Amino acid sequence: MFSDTQLAPMKAKSVISVSKLPNVDYVYNPYIGCSFGCLYCYSRYMGRFFGHSKAQWGSYVYWKSNAIQLLEKESIRIKKKGGLVLIGSVTDCYQPIEKKLHLTRDSLRIFLKNQIPISILTKSTLAERDFDLLTQFNYCEFGVSVSILDSKVSRTFEPLVSTPRERIKLLRKANQSGLDTYTFIGPIHPFLSNTQAIFRRVSNITNSIMGEIINLKCGNWKNIQSSLRKLDIFDEDYKNQANSESFYLKNKHILNIMCERSSIKFKGIYKHYNPGLKGPSNI
Ligand code: SF4
Repeated sequence: MFSDTQLAPMKAKSVISVSKLPNVDYVYNPYIGCSFGCLYCYSRYMGRFFGHSKAQWGSYVYWKSNAIQLLEKESIRIKKKGGLVLIGSVTDCYQPIEKKLHLTRDSLRIFLKNQIPISILTKSTLAERDFDLLTQFNYCEFGVSVSILDSKVSRTFEPLVSTPRERIKLLRKANQSGLDTYTFIGPIHPFLSNTQAIFRRVSNITNSIMGEIINLKCGNWKNIQSSLRKLDIFDEDYKNQANSESFYLKNKHILNIMCERSSIKFKGIYKHYNPGLKGPSNI
């Protein structure tokens, strides 16, 4: 799994940052880079801090070797201030290297010791390993991302993450363990993501839902085009839909209505195409 990935430790100056995302106050990422290397991933901009091009996303992972020491100190400050910490905002904290390093697990012990409210989002079944810790938090949201239900189609965009079926199974186990579960439906692709079908698969095992329209402005377009070619989808049609207000509104409407009918909390949909708005804040 790691043979083609450059792996190296790094020293961080700090590990908890104030969040620019809605619904969370802070973010914590024990890793920089993600060997899952999803073709659409917009975290690829992180590479510029380490001399990597956007095209190299997926080929390197740095782990913060002093993360635990810094977290011990910073978590005391966060505990005093209060607020929710999202673990894994620009990387999957349960990517393959975590199995060996257990940096996420060691970090969870510190968050737990201080009872800091956390939110985790993953595409990896490795997360089940830590349910014993997650269930001890006074407040812990556990989220799983699902973008495309069909495994073969999913593989063209996200070849190394757990399959959609495995992720839904993980969400079910989290729900059965008593965790506060959420489903992140995203990225939502034109022609490929069936938000209604995904909703139906998770509606009895998720407490809330949010979504995200595919972000095409982060150096991922060539990758997406090559996947679309394999699927015989015309890239201009895909792009036009992805960038249209109507596509966003349609998906938002569908999820809003379905959540309302099922008494599931709907946390909105991110979109990226409006040039008047910065980043994923236009929920
Ligand atoms: S798992 Fe998440 S962070 Fe990792 S490459 Fe895929 S989208 Fe990016």
